[in-house]
Amino acid sequence: MTSKKKKEALKKMLLEKKLEIWNEVKHKLFQQLGSEYKSEIDAVLDEGDKALSDLAAETGLTLVDLRKDMLEKIDHALAKLEEGTYGICDDCGNEINEQRLKAVPFAVYCVECKQKREDLEHIERERERFGITPPSEMGEESL
Ligand SMILES: [Zn+2]
Repeated sequence: MTSKKKKEALKKMLLEKKLEIWNEVKHKLFQQLGSEYKSEIDAVLDEGDKALSDLAAETGLTLVDLRKDMLEKIDHALAKLEEGTYGICDDCGNEINEQRLKAVPFAVYCVECKQKREDLEHIERERERFGITPPSEMGEESL
């Protein structure tokens, strides 16, 4: 479904988005951490995701975590582009709506599956909040 030209354009857009997020992360890092962390910030720029997670863990930066999530999504979309599965939902295998891909170019789930996932996440959060353990997760061996 994806022509070579379209694929190149998508790749370019995803890479630009990624760069944009990296620049934003870099800016925020300098803003929040200052010169004290200059060498760490440089390492992040050189080494990428791994160094970013290390620095996030070390400094407790949640914003970086948030962006990391988005960077991972973009990488995932780029990988799908290479595989030729870009625009195909990871869950159900249906094509992702074109409007959705325009709005969220790194989407890997169709609207229905994303909604389902969000509902599940919501249920998970409720469970955690009320301390309810679903029977299926209790395991056979536990007494
Ligand atoms: Zn789906």
